[in-house]
Amino acid sequence: MEIEILEMGEMKGSFKLKNSSPAMANALRRTMLTDIPKMAIDKVEFHLGPIMQDDKEYESVTPLFDEIIAHRLGMVPVPTDHQLFGYQKDCVCGGEGCPNCTIMYSLNKIGPCTVLSGDMMPLGNPDLAVKDQFIPIAELTDGQAVLIYATAVMGTARTHAKWQAAFGVGYKYVPIIKVDEKKAGDASTIKCAEMCPRGVFEVKSGKLKVKNPLNCSMCKECESTSKGAVLVGADDSNFYFKYETDGSLTAKQVLDKAMEIIATQSEATFSHINEAI
Ligand code: SF4
Ligand SMILES: [Zn+2]
Repeated sequence: MEIEILEMGEMKGSFKLKNSSPAMANALRRTMLTDIPKMAIDKVEFHLGPIMQDDKEYESVTPLFDEIIAHRLGMVPVPTDHQLFGYQKDCVCGGEGCPNCTIMYSLNKIGPCTVLSGDMMPLGNPDLAVKDQFIPIAELTDGQAVLIYATAVMGTARTHAKWQAAFGVGYKYVPIIKVDEKKAGDASTIKCAEMCPRGVFEVKSGKLKVKNPLNCSMCKECESTSKGAVLVGADDSNFYFKYETDGSLTAKQVLDKAMEIIATQSEATFSHINEAI
């Protein structure tokens, strides 16, 4: 098994999984979707009662229920560093919460204003400020205010979608597109360049050539248009993956972590089998 990186941006990635199997491709997809640990807000404390600021009294109310605000905060991507943080249940603090397993944020705003994700201030390390600063949380009118303390902890999407780091993880077999050289210059074959909805072909020196095979959706329209001069198949040992992240981890961190988890789980399975036989 081998991985060829095609694109690795901050929040977007694509790669080829080569010399593998559909079972392995599916395992990798499911691991990326559900098993990558990330930090997300899990506990929110709301200040109750009046808030004084600049000699003016504000009410601790918003147009939304506290539960909705807590849910919105939970879905805000929180920067995650696997070197700095671990699961609370495995932490040296015994699950009470400490700088090794929790990030604390405060949110202190008075109306009129729109409360945004960027208003969440990390207590301590400023590098832990949320990157996506403009996610609207609530609209405050004059006289309204919020004072919130929120705690982020590590989790996985097996528990809740707020701990899902990778999105739109999809793969397909790498397409195999063959153009019959003897018929590559025929009018019906050349027509495929115009007709293909995914821009797979180009015409060079009067002949149809494959330019972007990974764009192919395998609709097979070109096979009938070219009267059999073009044949489209799928390679079930090579897979083309595409995915995005929510910004809490980079695309590379998600892929690296997924491979690490699969390797660890495989080793554990083999050792169980070896113990049993
Ligand atoms: S199968 Fe469809 S998408 Fe693929 S090359 Fe043919 S026409 Fe284009
Ligand atoms: Zn701890």
